[in-house]
Amino acid sequence: MITEIAENFYRITLPMPYRLRHVHAYALVSGRDVALFDAGMNMPGAYEKLEADLASIGLSVESIRGIYITHVHTDHCGLAGLVQKRSKARLYLSEVASQVHKHFRQTDYLLAQARLFYTRHGMSSAEVEAIVEEIEDISSHIPPFAVTAFLQENEIRRFGSRSFEVIFTPGHAAGHVCFFFREEGLLLAGDHILPYIAPSLSPNIYDEIFQPLKSYLESLGIIEKLPITSVHPGHGNSLTEIDERIEEIRTHHSLKKNGLLERISVRPKTIYAICGEIIGSAAVRMDDWEKFMMFNETYVYVQELRRDGAIKEITGNGVISFTAA
Ligand SMILES: [Zn+2]
Repeated sequence: MITEIAENFYRITLPMPYRLRHVHAYALVSGRDVALFDAGMNMPGAYEKLEADLASIGLSVESIRGIYITHVHTDHCGLAGLVQKRSKARLYLSEVASQVHKHFRQTDYLLAQARLFYTRHGMSSAEVEAIVEEIEDISSHIPPFAVTAFLQENEIRRFGSRSFEVIFTPGHAAGHVCFFFREEGLLLAGDHILPYIAPSLSPNIYDEIFQPLKSYLESLGIIEKLPITSVHPGHGNSLTEIDERIEEIRTHHSLKKNGLLERISVRPKTIYAICGEIIGSAAVRMDDWEKFMMFNETYVYVQELRRDGAIKEITGNGVISFTAA
């Protein structure tokens, strides 16, 4: 499906297997040239869908001159390599996103890191292997592509008669950026602001210094200050009530974080044990992907609580647990 969001600016909805079932790419048109913002997921039918949608406005994949990536999650950059191969388009993303992309593609090392990380947080070896399979699957959907240049914070880029600013918004992913078209008040938000769900937060297992929640909330603060009239996200409908949505997401995180604090008492618990309590009897209805996301999110809140001094970390036998401070 292709939808015009502004003059010569289109949203292209592509398929995705995960729970949201779709992901948007955005095409900015100038004459016969296209700038593509995000590039969908590499899965059967997705490339053909992109081709057909561009054809419906008289253009083609070969018309794409520039590819701009908000972050390197597989549903946002999966088709970038193929599109680049066909179109010879220049490709831009942040330097941090490019590093994350490299890590995703070093599969053996990535899986070894993942095994260490999840074992340390209390998972049994069978569960670690289930997660490793999920990560292996994600990593197999991340293709190589050639980076033309790194996007710089607050730089202004031009495409045809339009100009847009690169806004660094780390949090949902390390190296995430949004694109802001100031003249129109239009923000391409990637997964930084979504309409129905709070964007997921995950640790970067290569970089435990990265604080997803803290970075995410700071990035919301940056977006809040921009004169935005419409937000066009990576998933779901566009938004105009931005301040309201930002407040809802803030409340969501603070409720979740406080809820977790109540679960941590004097008895040490691993992240895995805490997740088990939260999931409870719902475990049978959850697939490995959902459990993986849930674990990641719990890890992110617990790390924040530890940094706040609200809880303590204890290490024993190579396993990390948490207790009340
Ligand atoms: Zn994402």
